[in-house]
Amino acid sequence: MNTYLSSPVTALSGVGEARKKAYARLGIHTVKDLLYHFPRAFENRGDVRLLSDVQPGEKCSVILTVSTECRVSRIKGRMTLLKFRAFDDSGVCEITFFNQEFLRSVFPIGSVFRFYGKIEKTGNRTTMSSPAYEPYTESRPLPPLFSVYPLTEGLSQKIIATHIASILPVATAQIEDPLPEDIRLSEGLVSLAWALRQIHSPDDYQSLHEAKRRLAFDEFFRFALALGTMGKTPRTTGAPICQITDDVMHTFLSALPYKLTGAQARAVADIRRDMASDTAMSRMLVGDVGCGKTVCAAAAMYIAVKSGRQAALMAPTGILATQHAADLLPLFARLGIKGALLTGHTTPTQKKKIYAALISEDPAERLDIVIGTQALLSEGVGFAAPGLVITDEQHRFGVNQRATLSEKNAHAHLLCMSATPIPRSLALVLYGDLDVSRIDEMPPGRQRVDTFVVDESYRPRLDAFIRKNVAEGGQVYVVCPAVEEKPEEDEGLIPLWADFGRDSGDYGTAVARAPWEEKELPDMKAAVQFAEALAARMPELHIAYVHGKMKSAEKDKVMGDFAKGDVQVLVSTTVIEVGVNVPNACLMIVENAERFGLSQLHQLRGRVGRGQRKSYCILVRAGGGDTAKARLEVMRTTYDGYRIAEQDLSQRGPGDFLAPVSGAGIRQSGGFRLQVAEGWPDASLMDRAFNHARAILADDPALESYPLLREDLDSAFAMAGDILN
Ligand code: ADP
Ligand code: MG
Repeated sequence: MNTYLSSPVTALSGVGEARKKAYARLGIHTVKDLLYHFPRAFENRGDVRLLSDVQPGEKCSVILTVSTECRVSRIKGRMTLLKFRAFDDSGVCEITFFNQEFLRSVFPIGSVFRFYGKIEKTGNRTTMSSPAYEPYTESRPLPPLFSVYPLTEGLSQKIIATHIASILPVATAQIEDPLPEDIRLSEGLVSLAWALRQIHSPDDYQSLHEAKRRLAFDEFFRFALALGTMGKTPRTTGAPICQITDDVMHTFLSALPYKLTGAQARAVADIRRDMASDTAMSRMLVGDVGCGKTVCAAAAMYIAVKSGRQAALMAPTGILATQHAADLLPLFARLGIKGALLTGHTTPTQKKKIYAALISEDPAERLDIVIGTQALLSEGVGFAAPGLVITDEQHRFGVNQRATLSEKNAHAHLLCMSATPIPRSLALVLYGDLDVSRIDEMPPGRQRVDTFVVDESYRPRLDAFIRKNVAEGGQVYVVCPAVEEKPEEDEGLIPLWADFGRDSGDYGTAVARAPWEEKELPDMKAAVQFAEALAARMPELHIAYVHGKMKSAEKDKVMGDFAKGDVQVLVSTTVIEVGVNVPNACLMIVENAERFGLSQLHQLRGRVGRGQRKSYCILVRAGGGDTAKARLEVMRTTYDGYRIAEQDLSQRGPGDFLAPVSGAGIRQSGGFRLQVAEGWPDASLMDRAFNHARAILADDPALESYPLLREDLDSAFAMAGDILN
């Protein structure tokens, strides 16, 4: 790579060890990383008003002429207060700064500035406190948008903006555009250098839009290339042939407490056929939550074991792995098959035992089956006779984990399970190499979960409804989102991915989910407070909560109590989203439902309606206006996961689908982060980027004739890898 771009941030003036560390926290190590540290939002400084037109408390720009000398007064010991007056054609404003005595020389009488900030009006006094200021001349208009960067401790807006401004000219002059020119032109995309300059320092709205379109395209394109060049399960031959007779299969089926549905039987037949070949199976099992994918996985494991092989099942969370183990290990034990559970809190002694038993050459000692979390990817885990690897909810695993898994088991058969219906265009990129078995039929006795969208005024009736369901012996889930309070300084900001073309105004939700800001989500607070409030209103009920920051053991305990029926109302954040099965639960309440993606709501709804009880899903809407209302209405009328997913894609952009894949836990700084693309509302841009990527890979899978693309991907992978390790 070009030396300036790859030079460390310490090469910039003013960056020493402390700031280097701070930058590293943002995932920024080199000049190029800094160049790709995009603003998270923009101040709308182009909104210039007359003082008289401003409502008290509004944030906007005013162009004022300084009319008095700066007066400095000392308050509270060391604190100083600098004060002056300035005016426009409509009025006078008093401006104050704290502890910035040196500004005295910046504001001589008669100088003109564009001030941006909150304007207060009390009586007939108009004031601004510590506004942003830029010298103004009529002949050289100031840009309307002012970048606001994601920060970390030790780096202020001013510092980051100064550093970026200092690298921008040389860095953009030297950057080579990896996107093939013919693609760029056919898509009508601006040059990379121009886009990078504009995203940091837009001339106007239209330029910013074009810059974003280009950079969003790049993110999609790189993402598709990344998935296309790695993690693909090669159709290797040399996989163990796993074949069992109908009689042996029958033994498994008759050990089940129920008969397979037609769709399950078809999926098992697909799996059985695949595994009987020495070409490695590469199959994806999709079906709504509750359709019964686990038992199909169990059938596959059984086929492997009865063919003298071992099988591993990997789940994304400890809760899920534990539940799978609780469901499957007893069944396997009845069939004479030995299995174990391996998670993050398996003790070292137990772990050692499991590792040893997995590689034992003695079939009498050997573990046939292991069920676990990512712990299965640890180095110690090996198999004497690997046959089958299954991942549950694999979209939850990052690209790197998927790569590790398929590398470790190059010749094993591979089965993935997912309850997330993914729009076709995305599925082609995410799972284009997989055969698909779709379970489109629910086990008998399932009912439609009646869904309602309500608002806060419904609260008393909702409480009564909770009591009624519990009184009848049912159980209740309440899901609260991790509500991110919008910080005050974000007031009036336009987030990076607000689309000027489409709507204006309500960016509230966009700001709320700006994903690359690794804020401590107050998800704990949301669940705990809600549970406490509920418990205060209904002391007679057993109410418990789980949230993402609890230790796994604690979470498992609470989930276990709920599954046993000891807890009647479970308040949680989305940790319950995938997989957990409690057939007695019959009421799902989702608070602040407007903050969820529809697909996510569909998944949550799938947690109820699994048993005999008539079940309900109630979506409580706390805001979001008419758009949110219309969006949620889809849930009331649609039960088809695919249609819901398509709606989600077109309304919220692909972030909900891609973010988990683009790097679990590395959103902020990963090599494949979707800073601009995450909320890009026009799915056709994504489709076209994906198509171009696929076309290139079809001709040149190793990107041999695209050295710049190859290099770009390699450094992105290296970055993602660094962060995961
Ligand atoms: P998911 O597809 O979401 O993983 P599960 O495999 O957890 O669904 O199955 C959900 C529930 O349905 C489980 O309690 C399971 O025992 C039950 N189940 C699965 N298949 C059948 C069937 N054919 N008949 C009756 N119940 C079934
Ligand atoms: Mg499941």
